[in-house]
Amino acid sequence: MDDNRATVEESGIKDPDAMFASLEKKIKDSGADMDMGRIRAAYETACRAHMGQMRRDGSPYVTHCIAAADISVDMGLDEDSVVAALLHDVIEDTELGYSEIAHQFGEPVADIVEGVTKLTRVQYTSKEDEQMENLRKMLMAMAKDIRVILIKIADRLHNMRTMAYQTEEKQRSKSLETMEIYAPIAHRLGMQRAKWELEDLALMYLDPTGYKEITDTLDSRMDILVDFMAKMEEKIKARLTEEGLQATIYSRIKHIYSIYRKMYAQKLDINGIFDLCAFRVIVDTMPDCYNVLGIIHDMFKPVPGRFKDYISTPKPNMYQSVHTTVIGTEGIPFEVQIRTWDMHHTAEYGIAAHWKYKMGDTGVKNGDEDKFAWVRRLLESQQESDATDFFHNLKIDMFADEVFVFSPKGDVINLPAGATPIDFAYSIHSAIGNSMVGASVNGRIVTFDHVLQNGDIVEVRTAKNAPGPSRDWLNIAKSGSARTKIKQWFKKERREENILRGHDIFEAELKNRGLRMEDITDEDVLPVLLKKIACPSLEEMYAAIGYGGMTATRTVNRMKDELARIHHLAEKKTVLEKVTEAAERRETNAKKNIRPVHGILVEGLDNCLIKFSRCCTPIPGDDVVGYITRGEGVSIHRKDCRNYINRNDNPESLGRWIEVEWAEHISEVYTTGITVVAHERSGLVMDIATVLNSLNSKVRSLNARDIEGNRAVVNITLEIRSLDELRVVINKLTSISGVSEVSRNGG
Ligand code: MN
Repeated sequence: MDDNRATVEESGIKDPDAMFASLEKKIKDSGADMDMGRIRAAYETACRAHMGQMRRDGSPYVTHCIAAADISVDMGLDEDSVVAALLHDVIEDTELGYSEIAHQFGEPVADIVEGVTKLTRVQYTSKEDEQMENLRKMLMAMAKDIRVILIKIADRLHNMRTMAYQTEEKQRSKSLETMEIYAPIAHRLGMQRAKWELEDLALMYLDPTGYKEITDTLDSRMDILVDFMAKMEEKIKARLTEEGLQATIYSRIKHIYSIYRKMYAQKLDINGIFDLCAFRVIVDTMPDCYNVLGIIHDMFKPVPGRFKDYISTPKPNMYQSVHTTVIGTEGIPFEVQIRTWDMHHTAEYGIAAHWKYKMGDTGVKNGDEDKFAWVRRLLESQQESDATDFFHNLKIDMFADEVFVFSPKGDVINLPAGATPIDFAYSIHSAIGNSMVGASVNGRIVTFDHVLQNGDIVEVRTAKNAPGPSRDWLNIAKSGSARTKIKQWFKKERREENILRGHDIFEAELKNRGLRMEDITDEDVLPVLLKKIACPSLEEMYAAIGYGGMTATRTVNRMKDELARIHHLAEKKTVLEKVTEAAERRETNAKKNIRPVHGILVEGLDNCLIKFSRCCTPIPGDDVVGYITRGEGVSIHRKDCRNYINRNDNPESLGRWIEVEWAEHISEVYTTGITVVAHERSGLVMDIATVLNSLNSKVRSLNARDIEGNRAVVNITLEIRSLDELRVVINKLTSISGVSEVSRNGG
């Protein structure tokens, strides 16, 4: 069985020399080719630098440095990393600086130590997920060299192992940071071993009761579980041998945090979690993985839906294995992970494993250029496998196109690489950008074109009477959104200036293209040209050119094209026009003679005088009725007109109402009135007009007035062909925002 519990270091003062001796032995045993003299020199330097400093357990401080180096060796890191791990706290905690380290151990080591120091200095407070993600990216981006992150993880792992000596408050905050920052980073780098240990240690401090509940239960069942695992191991081993397969089998109890998470997610107590055990079968070749899988499925009943093939589709963090869950002889389910040794090392140590196993002896001494070629290839290939993953943003230079900075409040702001205080200010709020008068980075005043670096703390000074952005800012700002906001400011705040400016630029461009102002201001062509460039007036066009929303070159180009088109058309039209117009005129005249009188047939009467009542404005489709007027022929009303409904009020006129009906084919248009009631708001009338226009409804009149309760009444007189057409109009008007009622007049 695997030793699976997180390490918690025992109390007692530790002896640095003894620890270093065991580190030396570990390196030698690992077979790594390292200059032991150099590593000893680093140890001695760290001893001197940390002289007199103590860990909380009473051990000399340097024991922490040795422990971090020890973990780095476990991870398979290179010589420079081990040297840097030994020195990782000297810049932060001692008199020793970058140049001394660089002088004695070379710049690469000094760079790593400085990188670790920077990460250590980042202030952490728990935040929402998105902020957390940015913070993780920021740490990755700040690291530049992946070894910085790996050593930081080793450092954190040892600090978590010795967290028992810290105050409760520190235990909590460091555990939270570990859970939210370092465990996910370890996961993303594929370092499962570091990840689970960080998680289990953090859980121990974050939810001691929950942690203890799980460990107590596991301990109480340990005999049964160990017995079960031994039996299964033996059984599988025997069968594989029988089938002629070379395999190593490990069994283990799942990690505390993974059990904890499962309990939480499925709202179960630990008795409800069945698969507490997991087995690993490690073989030499990939085909063997699938052979083993077949045998396992033959031996035990697989649980449906639990088979996952991460060999053919590796996880984005390079993890490869085949997973299946089966039901053992006692009815206990357990998971089996099948992988090759290569996959196993990658699963345990992630990116660090590649160091050890793919770099070989030549290692990082190959020169800077190729140093991280493999990381690059790795990250690039991962990008293809899962675009949504973390690594999507890990470009060749990690986050080459992004920079992460802090606001004074500690929020992480994500900006494009090369961003300046201007980008920062506008990303907070356009009002901040517009009133910015100064900026400082890490407490030092900087110019507006200062390029921000990862981890910078950026502060912006604003003033009420600030002059606003200058046009230069458009060139300084790196982000499109900052430029847009600056342009908007110019558009709004400097209209007069923009118009003058735009006019000058436009006129110059016209001249440049051999056009005169008169060519475009001609009243026949100007409306067409403005429509072409989608501008309501010349003034608007000047303003847009002035603030930079339109370019003069493009505008003049489009106008020139349009002018050419108009001239071309005008020539052509002279020929076609007459023919078409004549034909149309003939057609109209012909129609006039055959249509019925206003589309209404009056019972028993031919060619009588017809007029449509103004009270209810009927249109084809309405139920109508006629009223014989004195000397004005028949007046047509809707049957729902109040004059007809209340006809009994005038008994003497009852006899004048007569039946009428619409003719079958009607080509006339009729006028009718509708009333719109809406919440008063700007743009309401504009919206109504737009809708009517889009329906090709001809508006005879449109009056809007405000009434009490912040409402507006709009009376519209329309030309309409039929009731169906009117219904469409009413429907469309009803759907305009703020409109509460649309009704026909006179109902
Ligand atoms: Mn440390």
